[in-house]
Amino acid sequence: MSAAKRKKLLAGNWKMNMRLAEIEPFFTAFAGGLDAGSRQHLDVLFAAPFTQIQATLAACRARGFAVAAQNVHFEASGAFTGEVSAVMLTDLGVRSTLIGHSERRQYFAETDETVAKKTVTAIKNAMTPVVCVGELLEERKSGKTFEVVGHQVEAVLTAVKNQGPLKDREAFYPGDLTDGLVIAYEPVWAIGTGLSATTEQAQEVHAFIRKVAGEILGTAFAGKLRILYGGSANPGNIAGLLAQPDIDGGLVGGASLKPGDFAAMCNTPSA
Ligand code: PEP
Repeated sequence: MSAAKRKKLLAGNWKMNMRLAEIEPFFTAFAGGLDAGSRQHLDVLFAAPFTQIQATLAACRARGFAVAAQNVHFEASGAFTGEVSAVMLTDLGVRSTLIGHSERRQYFAETDETVAKKTVTAIKNAMTPVVCVGELLEERKSGKTFEVVGHQVEAVLTAVKNQGPLKDREAFYPGDLTDGLVIAYEPVWAIGTGLSATTEQAQEVHAFIRKVAGEILGTAFAGKLRILYGGSANPGNIAGLLAQPDIDGGLVGGASLKPGDFAAMCNTPSA
């Protein structure tokens, strides 16, 4: 499938932000800032904290935006205090989740192995995992970007391959993602730093991820795979990023908390 057929996806990662009382005003402002017709060429997803998911779902369903969790456990139930399982999320109607965000890898000991297990669990529960990968600054500086990202992608996609054929899934609610899997390339040095990767730096890693995905899961899958860029994306740099042939959208932290900025990003002509 050519890049032209991959619908762009802008995903907001609210991290540990957004009080309940702020949710409806956020969506009123965000939806009010969207150009008519922007939704035809763009999917919009919000990754909310667990406790804010129901209110986010209530605000998003009527407006056709998708909702994701920011994490999931790989077991269905059991003695895992403080964790939330995929079946609990799907009970709520959540059909997508971030997995392996660099903050989870850095602060919560997430590894390639847990990322792979969580991804397989999400897929088995008919959820769309948005799997985050990316190199640290010292890894980029020492020329290890492709080695590190290649290893992260390989670890998760090999586990996915071993669990059986990957299919697109059904949408249950308006705006749901139906991808079998989404990858977000997030250079760790660009997250929350104001220091975005250049369009060239991002494009070359995205093309590499698509190549690795093709080698493991086949070119048909790789051609359909949406690969998002994340790391200080904002209204000023999103157009250049989205114009790249292998960049299919963005995973947006800080700017997704500002309804006007995030709407402006969604209104970007190539978005
Ligand atoms: C993120 O949290 O995934 C992210 C990319 O954050 P920011 O856009 O703030 O860099």
